[in-house]
Amino acid sequence: MFFFDPLYLLFAIPGMLLVFWAQWKVKSTFSKYARVPNSYGLSGYDVARRLMSAEGLNLQVNQVPGELTDFYNPADKSINLSQSSIQPSVGAMAVVAHELGHAVQDKQGYTPMRLRSSIVGVATLGTNLGTWLVFLGLIFGGASRSSFGFQMAVVGLILFSAAVLFTLVTLPVELNASKRARQMLIANGMVSPQEQAAVKDVLNAAAMTYVAAAASSILTFLYLAYRVFGGRRD
Ligand SMILES: [Zn+2]
Repeated sequence: MFFFDPLYLLFAIPGMLLVFWAQWKVKSTFSKYARVPNSYGLSGYDVARRLMSAEGLNLQVNQVPGELTDFYNPADKSINLSQSSIQPSVGAMAVVAHELGHAVQDKQGYTPMRLRSSIVGVATLGTNLGTWLVFLGLIFGGASRSSFGFQMAVVGLILFSAAVLFTLVTLPVELNASKRARQMLIANGMVSPQEQAAVKDVLNAAAMTYVAAAASSILTFLYLAYRVFGGRRD
């Protein structure tokens, strides 16, 4: 009754389409600018080194397989660059500067980033266990609000709300890292005006994936809340 619920599809499909569209958009925008060499011929390593010295950061720079798999690891203060980010392209420059943006956030103790790290555990639990508790609660719960099943579903819903909160807190973290990326590239004279526009394009496309994830998560939450609190249990 859960996964074949037409109402579930009504809530889930727009979110899924948005997520797929955003992923396609970031991939196509990146691959467009991954083919455009940057005017100073800076590789991903060069971009990382220059920005690290400008920001007074001493990070380990690693290479990871894949495309757009780049990440900053606050645990070991490392920047991890994917194959496609090593190339001296405009697209790579945007991605590498974005990861440096996260490193600067970490160094400055940027509040949304700290909040995000503090809820990551419960958010992961919320996505998995939370959904299952709602699912099982609805199966085993009677119509009565004092039933064990209902209470279990409510606990599941509360856990799931941590997952929603996580996707929402991710938004300022990501948007701010991109803003810092653009500012750092401009301040250090690493981009021409044309390249500034391209960098903005890549970073905006990347931001859309986080907006889509948040929207999708909110829609799932609304669906679960509706099943728990509203409608008939059949
Ligand atoms: Zn990011």
